[in-house]
Amino acid sequence: MTRLRQALRGAGPMAAVLGVAVALVLGAGEWAARSELDNQWDNLRRSGEVQALALRGVATRYSYLPFTAAQQPLIATLLHNPRAELLRSAANAYLETVNANAGSDTLYVMDTSGLTVASSNWNTPASFVHQNYHNRPYFRDAMQGQSGRFYGVGKTTGEPGLFASAPVVENGKVVGVVAVKVRMQPIVDTWTQLRDPIFVTDARGIVFLGSVPAWLYKTTRPVPGQAVRQVQFDEQYGPQWTPQPVPWKTQPQQDPPGGEITLAPSGKRYLALEEPLPDLGWTLTLTADSRAVAAAQQQAWALASLASGLLVLGALYWQLRERRLQENRQARIELEQRVQERTHALQQAHAFRQSMEDSLLVGMRARDLEGRIVYVNAAMCEMVGYTAAELIGCLPPYPYWHPDDLERHWSDVDTVQAGKASPQGRENRLRHRNGSDVYTMFYTARLIDGHGQHIGWMSSVVDITAQKRAEELQQQREAQLQRVQRVITVGEMASTLAHELNQPLAALVNYAAAARAVSVQAQPQLLQDTLAALSAQALRAADIVGRIRHWVRQQPASREPCDLNATVEQSLSLLLRAEARRHGVPVRLALAAEPVRVSADRVLLEQVVLNLGLNALQAMQSQQPPAPGRELLLRTATEAGRASLQVLDRGPGLPPEIAERLFEPFFTTRSDGLGLGLNICRSIVESMGGELLARNRDGGGAVFEIRLPSLASSP
Ligand code: ADP
Repeated sequence: MTRLRQALRGAGPMAAVLGVAVALVLGAGEWAARSELDNQWDNLRRSGEVQALALRGVATRYSYLPFTAAQQPLIATLLHNPRAELLRSAANAYLETVNANAGSDTLYVMDTSGLTVASSNWNTPASFVHQNYHNRPYFRDAMQGQSGRFYGVGKTTGEPGLFASAPVVENGKVVGVVAVKVRMQPIVDTWTQLRDPIFVTDARGIVFLGSVPAWLYKTTRPVPGQAVRQVQFDEQYGPQWTPQPVPWKTQPQQDPPGGEITLAPSGKRYLALEEPLPDLGWTLTLTADSRAVAAAQQQAWALASLASGLLVLGALYWQLRERRLQENRQARIELEQRVQERTHALQQAHAFRQSMEDSLLVGMRARDLEGRIVYVNAAMCEMVGYTAAELIGCLPPYPYWHPDDLERHWSDVDTVQAGKASPQGRENRLRHRNGSDVYTMFYTARLIDGHGQHIGWMSSVVDITAQKRAEELQQQREAQLQRVQRVITVGEMASTLAHELNQPLAALVNYAAAARAVSVQAQPQLLQDTLAALSAQALRAADIVGRIRHWVRQQPASREPCDLNATVEQSLSLLLRAEARRHGVPVRLALAAEPVRVSADRVLLEQVVLNLGLNALQAMQSQQPPAPGRELLLRTATEAGRASLQVLDRGPGLPPEIAERLFEPFFTTRSDGLGLGLNICRSIVESMGGELLARNRDGGGAVFEIRLPSLASSP
């Protein structure tokens, strides 16, 4: 449809162009023909003038000769005495000399009857002497007393020529005629060298001189019968002459005079210019081949056709170019529209993606193959506290790596680079810019571009800090619950024990008092000291039981500031050093230089240390033969706001099956054991806000560690 419209739109200008082209061809032909024609006419006119001048020159050059000779007395004398031979000879000689000097053809004298009495060619075979020319017009004219001029075929010679005559007048009377004949052949000879025919017609329209011999003496127009008879009488064009038309048709014209002649049967056409020579009574006709005009016209047509062809081609090219430009313009507009639509769609998609990314709670991070961060979303930035501008371009180690987990982070990088990232994800601890820990799950997959090329790694990062905290809280709550349950269990048991122990201990105190009283007389001092110690121990036992009861009653332990170094010393002096010595085990101390200050129930804590120390000695004792390097090592330290007291031995250590049950009530491996010591110890430590841990010692043996909040750092 569009093409049809375009074709129709293009048709108008094309028709106009074709019209112009046709007009150009026709106009150019016409113009060329006319200009060539004008040119030809001009040429003809110019050469017409020249030829007329030449012709007139030849025709008139000798007209003075008869006149001059007629004046010669010798001529008149001869005419009076035509039979006087001497006179005739003298006249002949005179005529011959004059004729030779003038260069004319023949100069001769006639008497009044037309008989030639003397002639310049008197001594040639074609002598005019004795010839009669009375029927010649030039003779008649001269006899009338006028000068005559006549062109005709010589009666004697048969050669055409121009005859001019003058009367010989004596006493007002014509006594004879002098005539001169001039051959026109030289001028005809120059005409035959011209390309186109040239001829002269007489007053009757008969061709008598010309470059084409076949046309001579032919009539260019009908000659009236009287005129024909006159010509025949005059023998102007030979004795045999009859009127015959020239072999052409004329298309006459006024200006310039002449017209176009068409030769039969060849059909050749000539422009013919008529140059009248009224003084001679002749008309000179010059011709020019019309083919030059036709050739110029055809040439102009050819050139114009070529130009028109070029014009049409140019128009076609212009039309095609216009059409293509139009199509290009259309295509460009469509392309721009498509680009706009696509840009709009891309902007929409981009905005959609942006808002999706911004709304994501999951962090997104893309890295190239070298590990350089190339993209992070808002959630990721929020998670670690760095802006996208700060993160993009970073290579490992990334600023949010946790300083305590650097090794783990590096190994994660290696795992991912090796393409072994777990699809289940990997838990990672990060360090937020504000110093807080962020717990995350990283899920990493290969990043593939639009060509299917692996160009890096894309990780989604889920913040599980809250979940982690909840888990910790839950664990704490469970530990608390367990502790409460243990406290309840231990409390019940302790309550029973206290109840059972209270009576015998009271009796022990009573018996001791009695023993002291009885022994006063014997070895007083020793018995007294012993009993005092016995009493003190009994009181202490009672004190312990009392405290356990007190503690079991959920009353807070009586906490006081104390130094773990002092606790160690106290425990040793109580029993431990003596027991170690008894077992032959050296005691070594590695105490902190500064007091290790905690808030605790001092007595209970000493009991815990004593219990752990005794367990260590018993463990080492159980090994037979004794292990080399046996020792009991007691160590205190303050570290990161935490106080610790460790009891280390070189016993058999803690195999897994024992380690996991150590703190269970009534778990023991000893035949005489109760399996309550460690359980109670842990309860005591936990009641003070601390924890009791057990593990194997490097190089053999076990480590039991009491951890308590350091007093210096506690609020
Ligand atoms: P008892 O001493 O009555 O057995 P405990 O609660 O004190 O009860 O100890 C429980 C068990 O823990 C012991 O039987 C022993 O097997 C193990 N144990 C305790 N201390 C040590 C230690 N220092 N080395 C090895 N095993 C130990």
